[in-house]
Amino acid sequence: MKDRKLKILAIDDNQDNLTTLKAVIADAIPGTKVITALDGSSGIMLALSENPDVILLDIVMPVVDGLSVCRNLKQDDRISHIPIIMLTALKTDRKTRIKALEVGAEAFLTKPLDEVELIAQVKAMAKIKESADLQRMEKSQLAALVSERTLEIEKELNERRKAENELQKANEKLKQTQVATLNLLEDLRKEMTIREKTEAELIIAKNKAEESDRLKSAFLANMSHEIRTPMNGIIGFSELLKETDLETNERDRYIRIINDNCQQLLHIISDIIDISKVEAGLVEPEHIEFCLNELMDSLVENYLPKASLKGLKMIIHKEIEHGACWILSDQSKIHQVLDNLITNAIKFTQAGTIDFGYKFRDQRLEFFVKDTGIGISDEHRKAIFDRFWQVENGLARKYGGTGLGLAISSAFVKKLGGEIMVESTPGKGSCFSFSVPYILSEMKKSSTMAAMRNVFDVTGKTILIVEDEPDNYDLLNIILGRLKINILHAWDGKEAMQIFSEHAEIDMVLMDFKLPDMPGQEVTRKMLNLRSDVPVIATTAYAMSGDREKAIQAGCTGYLAKPIRSEELIAILKNYLN
Ligand code: ADP
Repeated sequence: MKDRKLKILAIDDNQDNLTTLKAVIADAIPGTKVITALDGSSGIMLALSENPDVILLDIVMPVVDGLSVCRNLKQDDRISHIPIIMLTALKTDRKTRIKALEVGAEAFLTKPLDEVELIAQVKAMAKIKESADLQRMEKSQLAALVSERTLEIEKELNERRKAENELQKANEKLKQTQVATLNLLEDLRKEMTIREKTEAELIIAKNKAEESDRLKSAFLANMSHEIRTPMNGIIGFSELLKETDLETNERDRYIRIINDNCQQLLHIISDIIDISKVEAGLVEPEHIEFCLNELMDSLVENYLPKASLKGLKMIIHKEIEHGACWILSDQSKIHQVLDNLITNAIKFTQAGTIDFGYKFRDQRLEFFVKDTGIGISDEHRKAIFDRFWQVENGLARKYGGTGLGLAISSAFVKKLGGEIMVESTPGKGSCFSFSVPYILSEMKKSSTMAAMRNVFDVTGKTILIVEDEPDNYDLLNIILGRLKINILHAWDGKEAMQIFSEHAEIDMVLMDFKLPDMPGQEVTRKMLNLRSDVPVIATTAYAMSGDREKAIQAGCTGYLAKPIRSEELIAILKNYLN
């Protein structure tokens, strides 16, 4: 305050008053600048341009009175903060004073002015103005600071938002990259898995190929032994048969041995043919109606003598009654599989029982062959179904065999829509089983067939044998001759047709399919054109899958594979001549 030079605006219509004021103030507060105005309007203008510290304002003025000037000054934001001291001569006019306060005046001085009071008031008002200025300044500085800070904060916020946006974008990009990387890793993993699987498969295939190669070599060595053994028997005992002084039972024994060895050899050859057919994909199932229980009975008839010889019991299980056991399936394959399983069961069992037969489960026939033999260990249980495979502990050699039976059986059963299973306990026995769909045949032959089985008399019947091989003819001639059947014989198709047309008494024809002059199928068709009621039974040496169907297509009633076995031939006679 001491340093500051005050600026005072005095507004009064009386020049003398103004001069006095100026002098008093200059005297009391040296250095103070007093500016003056003779009317309200110019006073307001000066207040705006000079920004005085205090305004001294006369109330009574001619054009615009002091109260109006005061109101105007206080209504203008730019100057409303300047303290106003009203000068009035009307000391007693209370109403005017109140009015002056209402329009915003800060203080009053009464004319004639008391100098001391004037100076004291001026100084007090100047102080108020100074602190108001300070406050205003601080306020404006604060406002500036606030707006500056606000700007900074907004800028910061904008930058942060921008940064956040960029971060988000970067995050999204990262996520995309991560997803792409994950996909890539997944693809890589899949590729690795495929590669590992392929490698594993390759290794398995390589091992299988090596194993197969090893087994093939073992098989060939084994086969040489398996073929030579029965051949030795056949040749050796045939030689012995030439001796003339042989006793009858001795002769019969030799013949039985030769016959057994022939059967063994035939079995080996059939196995080799069958496995070749399996490997060439030539095995197709045939669907022909047959009597299931008769098949079971014939198996017992065939194997009981062999089992009894070893002291083994054979128990047959047939779950379906005779009337419902005519089914449609591949008789020869089921027969062959059961043949293999029963042969093995007898071969690998020293004492006890062979249980075999079938059960009826969920519209399927479940066949089984159970023995009380040596059993199979867990490690060998799968491998026994591989071709050429035999348990390599010396037993296979001890027991003989080619290692083909189960491989063929397994392939046949697969073709019939099943799978061979085995349960076994070493030392206790094994149970082989497989199932095929049960399809009941439309033909209700059962009762008549059963009746036929009981009465078998073919005496006096006439059969024409069409056969160009003398040995084959001899065999048929002997078997049929024993049954007191009349036999006619043709060497070729032409002769066959001639005999057939001349002999109306012919009851059946046994037709070789491979004749020197024409195919047996053709001869069959011609014969059936003449007489369709005569059963023609095809005899073929091929024993190939599909032969039976070819024969039936040609019109044949039945089929016999060579070498013809007497039981099979008799079964045919029972069926068609009785
Ligand atoms: P094989 O002509 O050698 O009998 P298979 O294929 O029929 O050929 O059988 C393969 C091998 O499985 C046999 O050599 C034998 O080791 C084993 N095996 C088959 N059936 C039986 C069984 N019932 N009991 C014990 N081992 C068996």
